[in-house]
This record gives sequence, C-alpha cells and structure tokens, in this order.
Amino acid sequence: MTVRIGVIGTGAIGQEHIQRLSKKLVGSQVVAINDINETAAKTAVNRIGIDAQFYANAHDLIKASDVDAIVVTSWGPTHEEFVLASIAAGKPVFCEKPLAVTAAGCKKIVDAEIKHGKRLVQVGFMRPFDSTYRQLKSALDNDEIGQPLLLNCKHFNPEVGDSYTTDMAIVDTLIHELDVLRWLLDDDYTSARVIYPRKTSKASSHLMDPQIVILETKKGIVINTEIFVNCQYGYDIQCEVVGETGIASLPEPTQVPFRKGGNLQRAILVDWKKRFIDAYDVELQAFINNIVTGNFTEGASAWDGYAAAVAADACVKAQQTGNVEAIVMPATPSFYKK
Ligand code: NAP
Repeated sequence: MTVRIGVIGTGAIGQEHIQRLSKKLVGSQVVAINDINETAAKTAVNRIGIDAQFYANAHDLIKASDVDAIVVTSWGPTHEEFVLASIAAGKPVFCEKPLAVTAAGCKKIVDAEIKHGKRLVQVGFMRPFDSTYRQLKSALDNDEIGQPLLLNCKHFNPEVGDSYTTDMAIVDTLIHELDVLRWLLDDDYTSARVIYPRKTSKASSHLMDPQIVILETKKGIVINTEIFVNCQYGYDIQCEVVGETGIASLPEPTQVPFRKGGNLQRAILVDWKKRFIDAYDVELQAFINNIVTGNFTEGASAWDGYAAAVAADACVKAQQTGNVEAIVMPATPSFYKK
C-alpha cells in the first residue's frame, strides 16, 4: 500500500519531509502540495524531482479524493486550523510542532480527535525516535541508576536571527525538552521557574540569552535546563540524569576523535538538521506505518502536543513574573493511554 500524502507548507522542514517521504521512506508518495508562495513551492518540488499537484487552497488539498493523509509544515499559527480540518475530513495528519500555538488550541484538537473516535494525529516531536535518547531511556527503564532524582540539560544553538524573541526560547526551543523529558521520565510537570543569568553580548537587544528553566515533576524530579541560543560554538544538546546509584548521560553523536597537532579533538555538530536527521526519518516512517496498520501506537499524540503546550504556557508566564508558576496538567484521557 502506498499512502498518498498532501503537504501544507513547503519551506525549510516541509522540503526536508517531502524529500524523505518521496525518496527515502517506504510506502509513501507526496501527491499534493500547498504553500502561500506558489512559485517557491513548485520550484521546491521540481528540485526534489517529484510530480505533485499544487493547491492554492490548503482546505481543497485536505479534501482532495486522491490525498490519503496530510503533513502540516506551514507556519506555527496555521497548524490548528489545518489539523482540525484534517480531522473533520477523517484523514490522518502529521503536524510539525507546535500542534497549536496555545494550549487552548491544542485542547480543541484533542476534543475533536476524541469526538472523531479514532486517533489520527501525530505531532512532529522527533527526539523520542532518536537512538541516543532511546539508549538513555532504556538505561533508566532497566534501573541502571536507580530512581532519577535530578536532570541537567542543555539546549544550545550557535546563533539565531534578529526575529528570535525571549519567549521563543520556550515555545520554539525548550518545547523539544518539554516533550522528550516527559517521555524519558514517564512523568508530568508541576511547576516552572525561569532565571536569567548575565546576558551574552552576542544576543540582540530584545533577547534574554541565556536562560535557565527549572521544572519540577509529579515524581519530585527537578530538571535544570540551560537554553543558550547564541553560544557561537555549535548545536549542542545534553541531558544528564542523576539517579540514586549513578549518573546516566545522553550519548554524544558519533564523531571521529582526532589526536593531532598536540591536541585531542572531536567535532561538535553545528547544524541542528544533522543532529536529529535519522530521528526525522524514523518518526515519519512511524506515521506511515501507523496509517497502514490503522493503529496510532507510535509517536507523539495530540495529548502530548497539548501537554507540551500547557507546560510551555507556564514557562512563558514564569519568564514574565520571575515566580515559580504551577503547571496544572489534567489526567490523561483513556483514549490516549498507551
Ligand atoms: P519556514 O521555512 O518558514 O516554512 C514555512 C512555510 O509555510 C513557508 O513556505 C511559508 O510561506 C508557508 N506558509 C505560511 N503560512 C502558510 C499558510 N497559511 N498556508 C500555507 N503555507 C503557509 O519554516 P520551517 O522552518 O519549515 O518551520 C515550519 C514548521 O515546522 C514550524 O512550525 C516549525 O516550528 C516546525 N519545525 C520543526 C522542527 C523540528 O525539529 N521538529 C524543525 C524546524 C521547523 P512564506 O515563507 O511565504 O511565509
């Protein structure tokens, strides 16, 4: 069976996903595209070398009879509308993060999916598909270090553009930790606090950088995450779990170590796309497999997208107030229990 996909939004990640859905993965074909920029969209698919019909209106693409499933990779504020329309059409939909820009928007999607009665939504949180995070999770699940007590995490980018604002450190950057750490610890957050250390001279005038986010979980685990998006030196993701009997750390991506010129050295990745490139393949293959089996057992659900949004809202509030802000997460509905 070949799943015929319509892609809404043919920008940076849209093109990456079209490429992998068309050339790399098994059982998928991109047959339709939509973007607000028709010329750029057509140029992009021509470059990739596929023949996909362009739709000027995303809703026509969603309803098209030869489109089996939708991939939403347009600008974040458009996601809610397109995911709701896909559910209304009864079609599976993979939505890049964020599922919606507010927790209330994510909740509308959760409610619509539950009303539909069958899971259709997968959110583009790829880190749980990354082999290094999976190794770390197995170590915790196998009780290698006893109960986790505290985590030290880093999310560093070499630099960001002028349009990046202080809240984006949460809604665009930390959002990946908010998702993957819930999955890693099988836990939910209860509170958030944000601290601003001395500001780097490399950040724009309107951006507080770096930031430290301190989260607490229902199990009482404390998570300390440093976000530093103008660190200059590379794209560096770290996660260290301190347990009762030891410490487990996220494995570093494999790089050849060199002994030369009087130095012992190993490269650090700079491009975020390379760090999780395999994870993107695995998550989208899981989406295709979920459709083929008719059973959405793998990947982040709409509920996971909602949970990340609830935590992100509290973190943004904590940025503004300087206080410890409560994160109130309702119990997971049975519809989403794994
Ligand atoms: P991008 O390069 O700006 O691409 C977004 C595309 O959507 C652009 O071509 C844009 O057109 C188009 N678009 C905007 N509004 C639209 C609408 N109403 N209907 C149809 N198309 C529309 O951004 P990106 O970096 O690809 O990011 C897209 C989404 O993926 C974002 O939500 C982002 O957070 C997410 N993302 C996730 C990851 C991850 O690691 N999971 C990585 C990167 C991005 P214009 O350029 O003309 O506005």
